[in-house]
Amino acid sequence: MAKINKKIKTIKVDLDKCNGCRACEVICSAFHANPKYSSNNPARSRIRMIRDPIRDVYVPVYAGEYTPAECMGRDRYVIDGKEYDECGFCRASCPSRDAFKEPDSGLPLKCDMCEGEEQPLCVKWCINDALVYEEREEEVEEEVKPEDVEIGLNSLINKYGLDKIADTVARMSMSKKG
Ligand code: SF4
Ligand code: SF4
Repeated sequence: MAKINKKIKTIKVDLDKCNGCRACEVICSAFHANPKYSSNNPARSRIRMIRDPIRDVYVPVYAGEYTPAECMGRDRYVIDGKEYDECGFCRASCPSRDAFKEPDSGLPLKCDMCEGEEQPLCVKWCINDALVYEEREEEVEEEVKPEDVEIGLNSLINKYGLDKIADTVARMSMSKKG
């Protein structure tokens, strides 16, 4: 398989610096609103603040890949004496929780690193420097990834069933032609 240079973009998260202000959720949801900046709603954000103030736990997690199935085993982390929830660090949009799903449609949300911006806006808006943007190049094997539209369709099929989605698409295409 051919090798290509791939730019890897990451956001380094420093849990000790996060105070749970949720500015990252606000700007992410506003940037992705349609039209841009017309509204903000943390439920539509691609970064979510997992917080438990009583235990002084604040974990900003930005959305990764969609997965149609829950994982079989879960991990529990204790770091510096603090216990973090199962799934607490997980970035997947998965069936076991509401995070990283568009609230109206249930479609999976994924961080796109604020495509078109100089740097991710959650990083820019985090005045505590809990989020730091990093870029590096890696040589990787070229992979064929499913398109976003395919991922979205798969998620709808899992939710409503193939027959219902196929019927809906057929009906919509008939009404467009007519
Ligand atoms: S903006 Fe920064 S400090 Fe505020 S919740 Fe997000 S990561 Fe934490
Ligand atoms: S990088 Fe942009 S899209 Fe990703 S979580 Fe931050 S604000 Fe949202």
